[in-house]
Amino acid sequence: MSQVHEAPVDGSADAGQRPLRLKGLTKEYATFTAVKSLDLEVPQGAFFALLGPSGCGKTTTLRMVAGLETPTSGTIHLGDTEVTYEKPYKRPVNTVFQNYALFPHLDITKNVAFGLERRGVKDIKKQVDDMLELVELTSQAHKKPTQMSGGQQQRVALARALINKPEVLLLDEPLGALDLKLRRGMQLELKRIQTEVGLTFVHVTHDQEEAMTMADTIAVMNGGVIEQMGAPNELYENPQTTFVANFLGQSNLISGDIEGREGNHVKVRVQGALASIPVDRAHSESGQGWLGIRPEKVLMAPAGEPIDAPGDVITGGHVTDVSFVGVSTQYLVKMPWGQDLMVFEQNTGARPIIPVGTKVDVSWQPEFAFLLDASQDVNAGIEED
Ligand code: ATP
Repeated sequence: MSQVHEAPVDGSADAGQRPLRLKGLTKEYATFTAVKSLDLEVPQGAFFALLGPSGCGKTTTLRMVAGLETPTSGTIHLGDTEVTYEKPYKRPVNTVFQNYALFPHLDITKNVAFGLERRGVKDIKKQVDDMLELVELTSQAHKKPTQMSGGQQQRVALARALINKPEVLLLDEPLGALDLKLRRGMQLELKRIQTEVGLTFVHVTHDQEEAMTMADTIAVMNGGVIEQMGAPNELYENPQTTFVANFLGQSNLISGDIEGREGNHVKVRVQGALASIPVDRAHSESGQGWLGIRPEKVLMAPAGEPIDAPGDVITGGHVTDVSFVGVSTQYLVKMPWGQDLMVFEQNTGARPIIPVGTKVDVSWQPEFAFLLDASQDVNAGIEED
């Protein structure tokens, strides 16, 4: 019989008391190391995302936490309890997979009740009803899985896992089989459910928008290691590597010579102009660097016209491409040194779209720039279509 440890369902009583801790977690296959000495701590009650491209080791990490894969070295703890080599069914952990894995011959009620019935729990009707209500499927309770949409099946899979009250719920690309619109809806739904039940969710995805929408902490994985970990806005606003700068959203990375620190800023000579970066966003302070600036932080005006709220300015660009995408217009601006900069402008209607061929100056506020070590690949993390 499985021993499922029950966590406080409202998440308040012992919040932060039983974090999931991975220490030096490593998985080596015969010729390949999939996960390299991973250290991380997920606070109890957090919505945590492991984000990275295909093959970065995120599923392997999740499977080690679930007990479906044995680590080569390292440890896994839940609070003070070590579970590194514990059998999967003895861990207070449940997994929701992309393919749902529902029992086709059982109706929704029976699918959801399965875990409790198997453990011989009595008087489960209220628990099952509550779970169906949580995932808003009360009216579908007597249908079979094949009579339901993908999104509804995913909710059944969620209810079936949550009813066991695991301490940690692992979600392996749970929305991967849904179409884009449904996926966006389910992201908000999952977030609501997580907030309501207060359990720790560890969510694996390669979709940066999905991770940013749902998680309160994201660990960006690349090549078996964590590149950077933090709140979505922290990672986006202040990436520490070219991989994170490119994988999470898009970045303009411009080559520059770092001149050194001056007060609270680091000065960088960028293609003839002098730019400043606040020290807490400068991840290199000497030699060559990549000055990073997000496309929506770049301001632009036809050459000679005043730029709205200018900061550091570079002149001599010209527009080579204009894409109107509804909420914004996305420009490509060829700079004198041959690089195309991306400039995204909100369509506020404040001024007409700037046509291709227009000579322009670009600018940004120093507080939005970041500085990375130039030894890194400038194209790391750019996904190929
Ligand atoms: P995806 O999103 O495609 O599932 P992932 O980030 O989850 O990618 P993993 O499934 O964790 O990646 O795999 C990490 C790496 O380990 C991959 O390069 C994969 O080929 C390799 N790998 C996984 N399982 C094995 C195995 N049994 N033997 C050898 N290599 C493996």
